[in-house]
Amino acid sequence: MSDVIDRASGEFQDYLELYERAPLLELGRLADAERYRQHPDEVVTYIIDRNINYTNVCVADCKFCAFYRRPKDGEGYVLPFEKIGEKIEECKALGGVQILLQGGHNPYIPFEWYLELMRYIKAHHRIHIHGFSPSEVVFFSERFGLSVAEVIRELKAAGLDSIPGGGGEILVDAIRRRVARKKAQTDEWLGVQEEAHRQGMKTSVTMMYGLGETLADRIEHLFRVRAVQRRTGGFTAFICWPLQPDGTAMADQPKTDAVTYLRTLAMARILLTEVPNLQSSWVTMGLKVGQVALRFGANDFGSLMMEENVVSATGTTYSATITEMERCIRDAGYVARRRRQDYSYLEELAGAAA
Ligand code: SF4
Repeated sequence: MSDVIDRASGEFQDYLELYERAPLLELGRLADAERYRQHPDEVVTYIIDRNINYTNVCVADCKFCAFYRRPKDGEGYVLPFEKIGEKIEECKALGGVQILLQGGHNPYIPFEWYLELMRYIKAHHRIHIHGFSPSEVVFFSERFGLSVAEVIRELKAAGLDSIPGGGGEILVDAIRRRVARKKAQTDEWLGVQEEAHRQGMKTSVTMMYGLGETLADRIEHLFRVRAVQRRTGGFTAFICWPLQPDGTAMADQPKTDAVTYLRTLAMARILLTEVPNLQSSWVTMGLKVGQVALRFGANDFGSLMMEENVVSATGTTYSATITEMERCIRDAGYVARRRRQDYSYLEELAGAAA
């Protein structure tokens, strides 16, 4: 469903004015109040998972992406199932409970490969598969001549557990057309989310800002997310972070600062009252700002996001990082708890890796 957002409405203008004008600490106070309304305990959760990019070959050509390679590029890859299995083993060895499986829009991979991959993972591993962003699902739908509902149904039947909110960027078509013209536009992107919710899946939702959009564009993004959430209740979490322009076709775009991040996070917490969890994006903002974010609406410290170069060095570094994450949470005044994708707590107490 396409929700038309009336930017002239009193409600929209009120939120915009708050975002533009409220003192930083006032925004933090409002966001913190909403955080405690939803999560009265002094608990900050985190998850141990692993980001697995099954292919870097992509035809979407997003201007902000430094990761992808065009087809026929010598550095293009598709990971064999066995390699993906090894990465999952390494993830589980460090206490990981989930993989985040995402890749480029690779025109050479048939749909059966994805279904086989789901079956292969589920046959060999007890792990939650958080996979295939809405943009990938739309790509599959167009590439394989299936409806979005069919793509999700088949992936789910083969083993997919939930869908991540990757590729959300700014959910305003004027912005998407400028930076990511060839991939899912706003209605398509949110349409995948809504269909996944209809099929009983929980998903997360993101916003990557700093693409040259206005503050009103960011508020519209939040309104669009809220409209879907009011219909489905299927979003478990909202995550925002700024564009990392280095090495991309948008390298001349100014980097945004910590204050902008905290204001944006706080606005999301204030506005998205129906979305239960907000993550602190310490991976992009640094641990210090990540801690401060816990007073600006975030109740979750996100994930460890293992990367292979470090994991392959026996995992020692990541154990240290887990300890450091937990220390950061404690130092900010909270109790750290490990969680699953649905935000339920794991039985083991945090601190096991220390
Ligand atoms: S679709 Fe993903 S991998 Fe492809 S260019 Fe865009 S951000 Fe990069």
